[in-house]
Amino acid sequence: MVGSVGVPGAEFEVSVPSDEFNWRSASLPEDFAAVVLAENVAGKEIVDTIFPHAVTEPEGGGENTSEREAYMANVLAIYESSITERTKHHLGFPFNLDFDYGVLWSLQNFYINNCGDPFIESSYAVHSRQFEVSVLEWFARLWGIENHEYWGYITNGGTEGNFQGILLGREAFPDGILYASEDSHYSVFKAARMYRMKCVKVNTLISGEIDYADFKAKLLRNKNNPAIVNVNIGTTVKGGVDNLDLAPKISFKKPIGSISVFGHKFVGCPMPCGVQITRLSHIYALSRDVEYIGSRDATITGGPSGHAPIYLWYALNHKGYRGIQKEVQICLTNAQYLRDRLRAEGIGAMLNEFSNIVVFERPQNEELIQKWQLACQGNIAHIVVMPNVTIEKLDDFLNDLIEKRSTWSGKGKVQAFCISVDIGKENCACQRHSEGV
Ligand SMILES: *Cc1c(COP(=O)(O)O)cnc(C)c1O
Repeated sequence: MVGSVGVPGAEFEVSVPSDEFNWRSASLPEDFAAVVLAENVAGKEIVDTIFPHAVTEPEGGGENTSEREAYMANVLAIYESSITERTKHHLGFPFNLDFDYGVLWSLQNFYINNCGDPFIESSYAVHSRQFEVSVLEWFARLWGIENHEYWGYITNGGTEGNFQGILLGREAFPDGILYASEDSHYSVFKAARMYRMKCVKVNTLISGEIDYADFKAKLLRNKNNPAIVNVNIGTTVKGGVDNLDLAPKISFKKPIGSISVFGHKFVGCPMPCGVQITRLSHIYALSRDVEYIGSRDATITGGPSGHAPIYLWYALNHKGYRGIQKEVQICLTNAQYLRDRLRAEGIGAMLNEFSNIVVFERPQNEELIQKWQLACQGNIAHIVVMPNVTIEKLDDFLNDLIEKRSTWSGKGKVQAFCISVDIGKENCACQRHSEGV
């Protein structure tokens, strides 16, 4: 819902996401302040945000004074020091915050855009297709598909990759049903809503992986419709692997239609991006020649970033397959370290095989959650052990957690609460389960 309100000196639009949305409880970044502007027709308060860094007009003839430049530089310097601090204490989301793309610095003076099909030149010549196809080729080799058999592109993120993959599925099977486990990323269900597809949610096991028996039962209930299946290799919250063939290796040698991964997560990149690869035969249904761009349109966004492919190309060359493999090993070992230390402290914790996500009892301290930017869901929190999450950082966090934890229940020994429904009896540290009852 979009409404228009008048405030002295300005007319602007305020959008109200939904009737249930509670503006008052919506939390704003600490340096923003919310004020109630007016009440809309439904009697709901319309809140606007006062931005401390509101954009203002340059004085006089529009020339920027050195004073104004200095003001802007100061605002940015404060911002940079604040995100530097926040970067140091980030543990909850799957982003590798450790990267150095300094050598690509001068490219920021260019608007690089890869509109159209990566494999077909476009009339817009400031592109980075040569890097884009090289990155695609690297992943195609990794996933065992021949050059003449695949198509793909560098997306603007994971959501776009999921949108593309699910759309390819729907175009191949217009009356298909989308199956996705309830632990799938929310973008999967968003795609189903956008495409108005029939979507069947499948239960999950405690590990976060799909419940195979429930999946089978639901498939059998819809025998007359093709199945479009979203398979998770590492679910968002628990890192569960949907192990449909008992060998969680990603490969086009298996009956997989398309694969989507992220560039800004494990690899690390200053902007969101991803890689989407599909079998060439599937893309024709989406492709349309567009005279205006002199290329073919087959992607969700019209003109994806031309910078992202260069960052990925640089990272892949810099680390190499073996470098990435080594980073993965370190992350898995560090994740085991974190899980073991939590368990040793009497805190329920779970770590799936092949996963770098440690799920544990949600800390009873909002300040701690905010400081370490933990992602929480119900009674559990998780830490994603990325390459920038070192043992020292984990120790810092653990010390902080252990110290604050001793204050939660006042005096005496802290009792772990039961989270066996989330992480299983064997991982739970509540009194009943730790005594092996
Ligand atoms: C992160 C993630 C997404 C969303 O990616 P964005 O880049 O944030 O759009 C989608 N699916 C999965 C499985 C993810 O982990």
